[in-house]
Amino acid sequence: MNAANLLKQYFGYDKFRPGQKELIDSILSGRDTLGIMPTGAGKSLCFQIPALMMDGITLVVSPLISLMKDQVEALNQAGIHAAYLNSSLTPGQYRKALQFAAAGRYKLIYVAPERLVTEEFLSFALHAQISMVAVDEAHCVSQWGQDFRPSYLKIVEFVDRLKIRPVLAAFTATATKIVQEDIVRILTLREPLRLTTGFDRPNLYFAVQSPQNKYAAMKAYVDLHPGESGIIYCLTRKTVEEVCLRLRAEGVSASRYHAGLGDEERRKNQEDFIYDRVDIIVATNAFGMGIDKSNVRFVIHYNMPKNMESYYQEAGRAGRDGEPAECILLYGGQDVITNQLFISHSRENEELDLEALALVQQQDRERLKKMTFYCFTNECLRDYILRYFGEYASNYCGNCSNCLGRFETVDVTETVKALLGAVNTSRQRYGVNVILDTVRGADTTKVQNYRMKENPYYGSLAKMPVYKLRQILNQLQVQEYLTVTDDAYAVVKLTGKSQAVLDGALPVVMKMAKEAERPPKKAEKKGEKQKKRRQKLAAELHAEDFTLEEEQLFERLRALRREIAAEEKVPPYVVFSDKTLVHLCVQKPVNEKELLEISGIGAFKAEKYGRRFLKCMCEGLEGLLVNPAD
Ligand code: ADP
Ligand code: MG
Ligand code: ZN
Repeated sequence: MNAANLLKQYFGYDKFRPGQKELIDSILSGRDTLGIMPTGAGKSLCFQIPALMMDGITLVVSPLISLMKDQVEALNQAGIHAAYLNSSLTPGQYRKALQFAAAGRYKLIYVAPERLVTEEFLSFALHAQISMVAVDEAHCVSQWGQDFRPSYLKIVEFVDRLKIRPVLAAFTATATKIVQEDIVRILTLREPLRLTTGFDRPNLYFAVQSPQNKYAAMKAYVDLHPGESGIIYCLTRKTVEEVCLRLRAEGVSASRYHAGLGDEERRKNQEDFIYDRVDIIVATNAFGMGIDKSNVRFVIHYNMPKNMESYYQEAGRAGRDGEPAECILLYGGQDVITNQLFISHSRENEELDLEALALVQQQDRERLKKMTFYCFTNECLRDYILRYFGEYASNYCGNCSNCLGRFETVDVTETVKALLGAVNTSRQRYGVNVILDTVRGADTTKVQNYRMKENPYYGSLAKMPVYKLRQILNQLQVQEYLTVTDDAYAVVKLTGKSQAVLDGALPVVMKMAKEAERPPKKAEKKGEKQKKRRQKLAAELHAEDFTLEEEQLFERLRALRREIAAEEKVPPYVVFSDKTLVHLCVQKPVNEKELLEISGIGAFKAEKYGRRFLKCMCEGLEGLLVNPAD
């Protein structure tokens, strides 16, 4: 069978996504291969399909037990023989699995890197035909990556022991050049095909908000999305506790996750979320690595994270199924301070000497600044993200809060002159708040102590609302008319550009949020939003809107999916994705042949679950027919 047939047969998909075919072909041609694709792009298939087509066994190296488990479960559900070898197995189970492996039972074997060069594993591997070693999350070999794992260095040691060198294929979502070079060098890839697909995730909507009351803003969002799966990231354990407790007290189905909890509770809470037993998980950044849950519909950042890398990785856990999902960041000035404290007190890497530590901290502060500017910018958020990762994008995406917001271009030269003037005449010694209070004409202790009432700009912007002044100050930083020092005092300094404005030689225009308040969106009824999403999907399938009957059918199918997932002890999305259920509702297949035309249903799953789903659909439709009065 060729690759396209296998895609259909086992995974039930009709088309390869960008990059997949090229990577598969490269591996099949025997060439080492490096695939760099964003989270959710579909890297797993790029080694799983060639594994099925090559003689012999493919070893997949993966950093986390949960990742291996998830992928092996998904493969087994698709009818592919695969197993994992890691510390979650008892010695007895481990030996048994190796025996099966030696007997040729598995096409794919997932193995923890530290196992590779053990006696036991080598004695198997040296007598087996290993045709490919696929390294997932390959950035783990690099010290520069987000997640260096020294055990990954054993991969090369292992490959060198084999009599016949297998094809090496490496995959990562990390874009930076230095990490890519490390992967090629350390894994000793031979003239690899390198393929980078775009980092854009068009199905994700990005938004930044600076609400007065974060909890209220977040809660309002959650209320509008009942029953949807979401992650709420907080910076500290304490915030996780507070937010989770309050949500639960208010009747929201939520659970918590952070490194301060015991192993047992962490595992349980994570599973509850993955298995759709709770809707929302409130977590620190400890949560997420190894989560392949495909139906996360929103990721809310209750606090701004420390850098864009973390943000995109965490936000990217939304919408892995390719369907619309939302990533919302709730910015507050305190977030910057908390992150600065983390940086100043970071002792993460104890091997660093003081000089190296200072350098790392400086880089961290620089990254934090770029993160902060993401929250300040009025330009397209997607464009900002992609440019950060070195991609060119258009400056209008139409699917972020800035592109969809209402802005106008305003000449703010006079206001800016007053702000810069206040900084200049007070000899660049004070922080943002003192400057703000001065131009507003406030009478605070600091204003008195620093004798700012004598400043020529005192009270010169008294008529302007303070939030607007803050916005302008933020924009001035993004556009580099001002900088703010990184230390705790956050002193405002002028830049080369400032002087020209002060001299009156340079006018300043800014894109500002339009004043006229839009009428507040009417709160949508419970479930309304989900319904809309399904109707959108239905529309993509060129069907009319979802009818009431189809709505009800969808709920029946969902219940059946939950039932099967419980029987199989796998998460519901491993059985069928939401998208597949929508297809079913719209297309209404009546026999197995028609079933196979549905995206996400391969031959194996059709055989295994087809009858139950067909029956469920049939009953659902009949039930509706005998009740024509509704
Ligand atoms: P990555 O490892 O790149 O983050 P995964 O391999 O986990 O992504 O794939 C993400 C999701 O995309 C999975 O649910 C997978 O089944 C789905 N997927 C992969 N390839 C395709 C395709 N060609 N068509 C439709 N869905 C796909
Ligand atoms: Mg992956
Ligand atoms: Zn945009």
